[in-house]
Amino acid sequence: MVRADFPIFGEMINGQPLVYLDNAATTQKPNAVIDAIANYYRHDNANVHRGVHTLSDRATRHFEDARERVSSFLNSPSSRQIIWTRGTTEAINLVAYSWGVNNLKAGDRILVSWLEHHSDIVPWQLAAERVGAEVVPIPVTSNAEIDLNALDGLLDERVKLVAVNHVSNAIGTVNPVEEICAKARAVGALSLVDGAQAVGHWDVDVQALGCDFYCFSGHKLFAPTGVGVLWGREDLLEAMPPFLGGGEMIETVSFEGTSFNTLPFKFEAGTPNIAGAVGLGAAIDYLSLIDRSAAAAHESALLAATLEAASEIPGVHRIGAPKQSAGIFSFVMEGCHPSDVGMLLDEQGIAVRTGHHCTQPLMSHFELPGTVRASFSMYNTLDDVDKLIAGLKKAQSLFGPR
Ligand code: PMP
Repeated sequence: MVRADFPIFGEMINGQPLVYLDNAATTQKPNAVIDAIANYYRHDNANVHRGVHTLSDRATRHFEDARERVSSFLNSPSSRQIIWTRGTTEAINLVAYSWGVNNLKAGDRILVSWLEHHSDIVPWQLAAERVGAEVVPIPVTSNAEIDLNALDGLLDERVKLVAVNHVSNAIGTVNPVEEICAKARAVGALSLVDGAQAVGHWDVDVQALGCDFYCFSGHKLFAPTGVGVLWGREDLLEAMPPFLGGGEMIETVSFEGTSFNTLPFKFEAGTPNIAGAVGLGAAIDYLSLIDRSAAAAHESALLAATLEAASEIPGVHRIGAPKQSAGIFSFVMEGCHPSDVGMLLDEQGIAVRTGHHCTQPLMSHFELPGTVRASFSMYNTLDDVDKLIAGLKKAQSLFGPR
């Protein structure tokens, strides 16, 4: 029972045992991760790479071991292709600035879907603005799935990059990224997949996906905040100029000029989040002991039970109906603002997210100020579902249609 590995579930919230259904915002951390971080600081803490002393060697080994773990987790051909970042947001910005600003020109197009998180929209807008390129949205269907026919209509020689999420954080839609990356490739465009919401549910194979860049955040994978990953095709990363300058990323520095370190260090300026990387490595080790397909099936069963029970509550409307959803129930309740639903649930110890979920274009598309989002992870239970449904019935009896 994985739940026992997560100490947070001992917490009482407003006098009730915690029902945590905000996993799309961040996942909880198992003891294995918490202990790995504490042990690192207790026994191995030093700065990495440059030290000649034993402790620095030890810290470097743990840090680089974590990179190897990420490399296998993503089935990367090489760990040189694993760049540590602060998270998905920084990874996308790295590509937008380093690749985008240096390769895009006036008239070029970047396609992003209507399902994107702001972090997969705004960096492209900033890069496009610098060079006179254009960010063009790929429409979604009423089910909140990417409209692949519309994508076909948009793909032409002007398109230089297609950026989509693997899973939508607002709706839960699992996007056919393999197909989308192939379509991009067919017109000579690159592809970037925002995997922030996927890694918490399954292991990713970047080679099978056929993407050019893949990004994720550790904190959505049972690891700490402040650490994440950019994976990129090696030839692309080799050709890209540094994003940030400083220590670690250089080979030699003089006032006549500076030469840069090799991959992956070229993109890792400054002292990295060593403990964060160690925590992420520990999370991947922990997950390797778990049957992830069984966990994903369990999450689907929880979602199915929720959808069925919620469909019987008058005035509760699910937003989007993707064929495949990664454990997310996004909905509105007639007569009750999403944040009021969220507050009422919180009084009962139930944590959900409310609002626009950093997807304002998608919310405007559905003409909504926001939704209530319940998002499941492997440690949730049918009891959590029952409590959510009871909480919604209570909200509905107070505010809903009569
Ligand atoms: N993309 C998606 C799909 C997300 O869900 C999130 C986090 N909500 C992000 C990007 C941004 O991740 P971070 O804030 O960890 O950089």
